Amino acid sequence: MARYTGATCRLCRREGKKLFLKGERCYTEKCGVVRRAYVPGQHGQQGGRKKFSEYGLQLRAKQSARRYYGILEGQFRHYYELARKKEGKTGDALLAILESRLDNVVYRLGFANSRAQARQLVVHGHFSVNQKKVDIPSYLTKPGETVAIVEKSKNNPQMKSIVEANASHPVPKWMEVNREGFEGKILSLPEREDIDLEVEETLIVELYSK
Ligand code: SF4
Repeated sequence: MARYTGATCRLCRREGKKLFLKGERCYTEKCGVVRRAYVPGQHGQQGGRKKFSEYGLQLRAKQSARRYYGILEGQFRHYYELARKKEGKTGDALLAILESRLDNVVYRLGFANSRAQARQLVVHGHFSVNQKKVDIPSYLTKPGETVAIVEKSKNNPQMKSIVEANASHPVPKWMEVNREGFEGKILSLPEREDIDLEVEETLIVELYSK
């Protein structure tokens, strides 16, 4: 399945909530969900929001989570299978895996304005893990690892302005950031209460366990 290349805000309007896919714009009046609070499409303005069946709710929960993290179906399913093999609740393990992705970690550290931008910056080789360049956004970071902006990118004007703009970006407690050193460290695996996204992981697990 190909990556979605349509209008980003349409995805939020489809889910009926902010998915925070466009960085700063998401916090302004220009946000698509604020300006057009109805589902996209020809009948969006008349129809309102339809009632979902149990399956519909599970599907929407999965699609929202996929869209928060910008992940294709096959890879999302793969993460579910990985989570299923872990101890504890599968939903919690799934979220911990999603949060551990390098693109998400870069975003959480404030080294990108959105997960989509983080993905692009990682692909362009701006980051290292434990001092080794990693350009794979799906790389799963582990506690103890250090994620840093590579030496040659520290003076890159784009990178500098992103780091400056996010100087007060709150960092979750499972990681720590050293902005002057352009690096951050993973302290532990994220717990469910550390993840501030509206993800209904129980519904996702119900969907996949059918
Ligand atoms: Fe979603 Fe951000 Fe667009 Fe608002 S501005 S609709 S939160 S991507």
